[in-house]
Amino acid sequence: VRRFFDPMEQLSVFYNSLQAATAALEKISGVLEEQSELTPPADPVPLPARNGRGRELELRDVRFGYRGDRLVLPGLDLTIPAGQTVAMLGATGAGKSTIARLLGRFYDPLAGSVRLDGVDLREVDEDALRAAIVTVTQENFLFRGSVADNIQFGRPDASRAEVEAAAAEVGAERMIRALPAGFDTPVGQRGTRLSAGQRQLVAFARAVLADPDVLILDEATSSLDIPSERAVQQALRTLLADRTAVIIAHRLSTVEIADRVLVLDGGRIVEDGPPTDLLAAEGRYAALQELATR
Ligand code: ATP
Repeated sequence: VRRFFDPMEQLSVFYNSLQAATAALEKISGVLEEQSELTPPADPVPLPARNGRGRELELRDVRFGYRGDRLVLPGLDLTIPAGQTVAMLGATGAGKSTIARLLGRFYDPLAGSVRLDGVDLREVDEDALRAAIVTVTQENFLFRGSVADNIQFGRPDASRAEVEAAAAEVGAERMIRALPAGFDTPVGQRGTRLSAGQRQLVAFARAVLADPDVLILDEATSSLDIPSERAVQQALRTLLADRTAVIIAHRLSTVEIADRVLVLDGGRIVEDGPPTDLLAAEGRYAALQELATR
């Protein structure tokens, strides 16, 4: 992870223009490629036209482990229809992040396949894949640059007006304008320190600007103060509209807006259904809910 940060931070000292953002992006993807052992497709299969509600995701008998000796996912089948918002829950080590990484093709399965609108991710052109599926994780960083630069990172060719519109769309504009230099306020290392809620809003604005078909979200934190939680919640609704989303949820308020909840244990799905149904079933999800609201 450190290697991922450093070139970016150094670069952002020198540049903050549009070209610089693009150069930085190339530099970062260069670093990723260097670390990754994934093979790009020799003969990429084009994705079908986007249907306006995101894309279908499918895990088909996926087996996966980080080392040869232990399977983290012993054989997982899961279909997520276009436009659905899925919240994943489960104890630490259950496999939530692993599923998120496979869905974003940060790893390939050992057996089985991960499919986007039926196309095996291994067959999708890398740029098309990175445009279609965006992952927002806890490690999503603010690099050293302005708030605007950080949002623009979602789509380096976006204009300043588009950057500001993205911030407005997720309800972050007022917060940003209240910073010492508004959109030009330096953040990241040695910049203005943003709260967890503020960072999340900037990350959401970045994602809205990228406008992916599929959003994979690892919720940064379970603890936000109430006004931030409300703002983030509202932003999340905007961000989730008209796309497929898979969220590793740490907040109950997030789970409640999901269409479907998956409870994982030992790399298997042990509960699957709309949150209200699972609540009525009085299983693990219901128990988690009760713990959290007690
Ligand atoms: P958490 O809520 O703690 O993030 P999780 O449900 O996301 O947990 P994973 O991170 O997917 O669970 O982990 C599933 C299993 O895979 C665990 O046993 C974990 O130790 C192992 N694991 C996760 N990442 C790696 C890795 N990079 N290398 C080796 N093993 C890993």
